[in-house]
Amino acid sequence: MRTPFVAANWKMHKTVAEATAYAAAFRARMETIRAAEVVVAPPFTALHAVAAALDGSPVGVAGQNLHSAPQGAYTGEVSAGMLREAGAGYVIIGHSERRQLFGETDAGVNAKLHAALGAGLVPIVCVGETLDERDSGRMFQVLNRQIAGGLADVELEAAGSVVVAYEPVWAIGTGRNALPAQAQEAHAHIRQRIARALDADGAAACRIIYGGSVKPANAGALAAEPDVDGALVGGAGLDPDSFAEIVAQNAAAAV
Ligand code: PEP
Repeated sequence: MRTPFVAANWKMHKTVAEATAYAAAFRARMETIRAAEVVVAPPFTALHAVAAALDGSPVGVAGQNLHSAPQGAYTGEVSAGMLREAGAGYVIIGHSERRQLFGETDAGVNAKLHAALGAGLVPIVCVGETLDERDSGRMFQVLNRQIAGGLADVELEAAGSVVVAYEPVWAIGTGRNALPAQAQEAHAHIRQRIARALDADGAAACRIIYGGSVKPANAGALAAEPDVDGALVGGAGLDPDSFAEIVAQNAAAAV
């Protein structure tokens, strides 16, 4: 039985004041939730303040990105150790916006994954096809490449702590979520490829979460699919009440 994993990616939204107000409201909503692992990913500037505001609560904090080097002359970048020190326990890696807008590759994702694991951060590795890739019948090929490249050389013992987010690019920020059956098809395929890259036990332990226009109205149906182990939420994660509702639906699907 995999514990559901639900994360809100705030992207480039929320000042420190806005982020801490959210954290205060959200932690109150999370007091009764025990059946899910819950994480928010603020922008770097608010990470420390949000971690302090959530300290002692069951809600964790994630960075939205990291550099693979521990330190150095990399203007504008942040290392795994810096994220840890600021209070993060998790980090999102290879989000499609980073792949599309900032040229991230599978090899770069893999380097970041190893940096995260080395620093004790739980990596949330994003994969997913574009609409063109899906429509031209290349979805499975793209997922295979992203899984094999992104998860290369992961030690078996680390497999259970890796979270993979299936985020079809055509569903992100578009209001058009994958149908539950489409998500299940992709998740089952991803799990099979993880089994090939690692082993069957590693694949069975790995949480594969769905991202792409998750809202309170569709979260329960997506979470009910057997290989959907939670959600990565963008827009609907910006509001503490709607994110709390999505968490509640994922927790309910697990019991
Ligand atoms: C995301 O960016 O990870 C995401 C899933 O966004 P949204 O929920 O807004 O589609």
